Amino acid sequence: MTSDSTVTRFAPSPTGYLHFGHVRSALEGWRAARGAGGRFLLRLEDIDQTRCRDEYTAAILEDLDWLGLSWDGPVRKQSEHLDDYRRALERLQAMEVIYPCFCTRREIRDEIARAGGAPHALPGLPYPGTCRGLDSRQRAQKQRAGIDFALRLDLARALALTGAVEWVEEEEDGPHRKLADPAPFGDVVLARKDVPASYHLAVTVDDAIQRVTLVTRGEDLATATHVHRILQALHLPTPRYRHHDLVTDAAGRRLSKRDRALTIRSMRESGIGPPEIITRATFTGGGDDPSAARIRSNLNRAGDEDLLRHPGIPGRPAAEGRVARQNRGSPD
Ligand SMILES: [Zn+2]
Repeated sequence: MTSDSTVTRFAPSPTGYLHFGHVRSALEGWRAARGAGGRFLLRLEDIDQTRCRDEYTAAILEDLDWLGLSWDGPVRKQSEHLDDYRRALERLQAMEVIYPCFCTRREIRDEIARAGGAPHALPGLPYPGTCRGLDSRQRAQKQRAGIDFALRLDLARALALTGAVEWVEEEEDGPHRKLADPAPFGDVVLARKDVPASYHLAVTVDDAIQRVTLVTRGEDLATATHVHRILQALHLPTPRYRHHDLVTDAAGRRLSKRDRALTIRSMRESGIGPPEIITRATFTGGGDDPSAARIRSNLNRAGDEDLLRHPGIPGRPAAEGRVARQNRGSPD
């Protein structure tokens, strides 16, 4: 975390206004980069054009700027780089670790049910592998018939090439090695006709192209890292990771993106300034007592008063409230 070559990024989707919950993510990346004299990049995950809107893009940039979270260099919009994802798929194709899947969503559901699985037991139960065994003649036949297909990662083949894969998780008490276990994901979709690059493909390709060295993102995305590490081990460089806790409400529930009162726009309109938003995003939730008293006591700690006066140059959050995180999750 002290290298001057640290590169981090914040990568929202312009499907709505910047939300209070986003601010912690942006802050994590921003602080890690600024603290190391590195670069903080901004990327817009706008591949799904049916859900993204230009007005949200403009609003996200404006709100980040208003908060004082400046970024370096041009903004990368995924929708302008579809060739990069196509090239990545070609590389994976040449390695024979992807295959076309002609199943409809309903067919996949039925297949899982027949195999005795419970489709609702897990979000995203792994694909049962129906199309993995098709030979080239069968594939060509289906493609000629004009059946839509998705491209899936052949996880078993990929693992045969990569072997065991780890990543470095930057925690409060230093780096920890984590072993990637992608099996629960199975053969994930990397591309579809209507979505030329899935999240897994796009985010790993983008991090490589943007030379991101430290991926900072919410702990809700930590499970995806198991898959991302396999893709990186196949054909991309490996960043370090820091999965941060999420901003939660007083009951410990994750904030709803649909809560309009918690968009940065609304907070701004109701007279809340950048220093208070930055402070709240730093200290609220994540298993800590989110009460105002807690926030105040944190602010009384030496140095943290600066957060209120200089939203542009906050330091790392005080360590005390984060002890719980040190005590969980690391296998070593
Ligand atoms: Zn299939």
